[in-house]
Amino acid sequence: MNDGRDRLRIAVQKSGRLSEASLDLLRRAGLAFRASRDKLFLYGENLPVDVLLVRDDDIPGLLVEGSCELGIVGRNVLDEQRLAGGAAPAPAALIDLGFGHCRLALAVPDGGPIGTIADLAGLRIATSYPALLADWLRAQRIDAEVVLLNGSVEIAPRLGKAHAICDLVSSGATLAANQLHELATVMHSEAVLVASPRPRGAAASQLVERLGARIAGALSGAGARLLMLQAPRTALPAITRLLPSREAPSVLGLDGRPDDVAMQALCNASLDWQHLEELKRLGARGVMVLNVERMLA
Ligand code: ATP
Ligand code: MG
Repeated sequence: MNDGRDRLRIAVQKSGRLSEASLDLLRRAGLAFRASRDKLFLYGENLPVDVLLVRDDDIPGLLVEGSCELGIVGRNVLDEQRLAGGAAPAPAALIDLGFGHCRLALAVPDGGPIGTIADLAGLRIATSYPALLADWLRAQRIDAEVVLLNGSVEIAPRLGKAHAICDLVSSGATLAANQLHELATVMHSEAVLVASPRPRGAAASQLVERLGARIAGALSGAGARLLMLQAPRTALPAITRLLPSREAPSVLGLDGRPDDVAMQALCNASLDWQHLEELKRLGARGVMVLNVERMLA
């Protein structure tokens, strides 16, 4: 691939909030791995693809320098480094992965004097995301001081280091535990599949494309159900209306039973027992629901 490598590399967070879901997704995309002795690599056993296990902050840099072709990282980390890097080439986000959801939020001490974002003018805001925060402040036309803190941002107000903070939040429990509340959302984030901006050879590009398609397939299959049943032809409109269906069902004729049909419909995860009971009431028989493991559009 790059540097004369003949195997593709995917950078994944070694240990943290994204690690498990990232590896699970790669497995669902059909990759099987064996860990290296030092636990820095996972060697692909069935495709020329290895996983490099690193700190999430290192992932955009590895992609920019071409040490890895693909990576899985939070959009927050990706955008922060892109903004901080100015016009330098940046990794491109290929697919939203549907996990690692959080938001970068501005929060202020409970019962304090800051009531609106306009009150932040002239104050200090602590964050680990200085570029994202500065960009947002510019867009809001607020002139505040950004203080970089690389950990324990939520205690900065109590330590007198800042008047407000800008930090990642998912449930808000950490904010509440520190007597802080949200004032505004700076960005929404989730894990994304990202690609190196470096030009690659044809073989690598093809493999990147293939993995991208498989990952997209694993994601769109997740939660999908295939519903199969037989029913009187006259019940079809009512059945179709009832289903949490993704697309028009396939309807097949049955030999020697002109009044009945067999039907297959791709449904989403909300297909439950109540739907099945309704289907029976509408005259459906042999109702079967199968989990969809993967799909290739
Ligand atoms: P590393 O050691 O790899 O640098 P880290 O401490 O920077 O780890 P984690 O806390 O594991 O990173 O978070 C990784 C990513 O998970 C975040 O960048 C963000 O995209 C996402 N995330 C989801 N929910 C949260 C949350 N409540 N707090 C922080 N990050 C979250
Ligand atoms: Mg990190």
